[in-house]
Amino acid sequence: MRQRLWRLLKPLCRTGVSRVPDLHLVSVPLRIGLFGGTFDPPHVGHIAAAVNVRHALGLDRVLMVVANDPYQKSSSRDITPAAARLEMVRAACEGIPGLEVSDVEITRGGPSYTFDTVREVLAEYPDAEVFVIVGSDTAGRLETWHKWNELADIATFVVIARDVEELTLPSAVNSIRMDVPVIECSSTELRRRLRAGEDTTHLLSRAVFNVIHARNLYGVTDRRSTASVGLSA
Ligand code: ATP
Repeated sequence: MRQRLWRLLKPLCRTGVSRVPDLHLVSVPLRIGLFGGTFDPPHVGHIAAAVNVRHALGLDRVLMVVANDPYQKSSSRDITPAAARLEMVRAACEGIPGLEVSDVEITRGGPSYTFDTVREVLAEYPDAEVFVIVGSDTAGRLETWHKWNELADIATFVVIARDVEELTLPSAVNSIRMDVPVIECSSTELRRRLRAGEDTTHLLSRAVFNVIHARNLYGVTDRRSTASVGLSA
């Protein structure tokens, strides 16, 4: 209802009509970004992408949605338990305006389907515009997603250029390609570095590293933690 009213009033606002009745009663639909991931672990590339897209598109908030069971990955490798990944994402987003951590997929349980998540967001905010933010590597596999074409009916995809040259999405998909600055790093590379005891200071926040250390994730031990982040022993 509010969205319909806004659609009627928007042209009046654009043409500068001076007497728009009761404009103070009209609320602009929320613009919500949804950035889903395994976040195993979350790194500066994820955070930079979420913040840059939020600013570029004027999104009210970006939900960082931690996958419960990233079904496309969990068959090929062990995934860190969801509770630990959620704690790391909370640590990574702490104090960053406009980023909100969502445990909706963990609470729902089972395989994490973005279609179900967008439907839940729309059930809570029926007038919202939802933008599903993905790296171009992920977008390239869109047609393998559960109910991807129904998802395309209810959300706009925002594709962040990431190492993939040309990407053609199905024509039915409403998408925006964003050339925001990208920090090229991956969770795979981070897991490797952590296991090898290599430096990760430029790729992980201290707060995330503290969770990794406290939970002994990725083979991080006391010896490695002091070497990796330069803590005094
Ligand atoms: P992995 O290396 O384990 O596959 P990942 O680093 O790609 O993990 P995910 O949690 O799988 O991280 O990614 C969540 C989303 O973030 C995906 O849409 C992915 O394309 C995007 N993404 C990952 N790394 C970056 C990055 N450095 N810059 C921008 N987007 C990224």
